[in-house]
Amino acid sequence: MDNQKTVLIVEDEKNIVDILRFNLQREHYLTSEAYDGEDGLSKARAEKPDLILLDVMLPKMNGFDVCRALRQEGDNVPVIILTAREEEADKVLGLEIGADDYITKPFSMRELIARVGANIRRTAMAAPAAATAAASAMPVAGDLSINTDSHQVFRGGKAIDLTQREYELLTFLASHPNKVYSRVDLMEQVWNYGYVGDDVRTVDVTVRRLREKIEADPANPVFILTRRGAGYYFSV
Ligand code: CA
Repeated sequence: MDNQKTVLIVEDEKNIVDILRFNLQREHYLTSEAYDGEDGLSKARAEKPDLILLDVMLPKMNGFDVCRALRQEGDNVPVIILTAREEEADKVLGLEIGADDYITKPFSMRELIARVGANIRRTAMAAPAAATAAASAMPVAGDLSINTDSHQVFRGGKAIDLTQREYELLTFLASHPNKVYSRVDLMEQVWNYGYVGDDVRTVDVTVRRLREKIEADPANPVFILTRRGAGYYFSV
């Protein structure tokens, strides 16, 4: 199988690594592993995995710093943060520093495998962002334009670095201008999972991050607007 995908597991608890490796390999993923943050970061750089499962509390360098370092280097590999159930703040922080998703421990292996698959599929749909000109991007509103071939977004001709999820959310809303979507709708349409508990907060965090990147004044957005009590919409 040439197109086997590789998942890098960065986790210091050996028994969790063992169970993840076993289940991922059973689903035909290749796996690689690191037991501390520094090794995780260097393996992410060297091996270019298709997805990273990233624990938060790690020796040498924590998971947030690993993710932040990758994003600062322009690496948009899908990252799923593994967080303990009680660490509610971790979920939000993880998304704010550019993780694509999080899953709480103890997790169901079926859910984890589903999320790994969903996050890899989303990235696989993205064409390689090589040799793309802002000139071929389609204007969507104001000075904002999207090149759906290269999955790049531009404002005033300048490329904006979005995570895959931010890009998906933006293009989904922009392709249905002025239509209001609830957070549950967006969870289903953009994240591709059914409504699960407090996960709708993920939508709020992603909208906030997106506004910080695409809006001239994130506090007074002009592209992605809130319809109070109803949801979000792309204004044109
Ligand atoms: Ca740990």
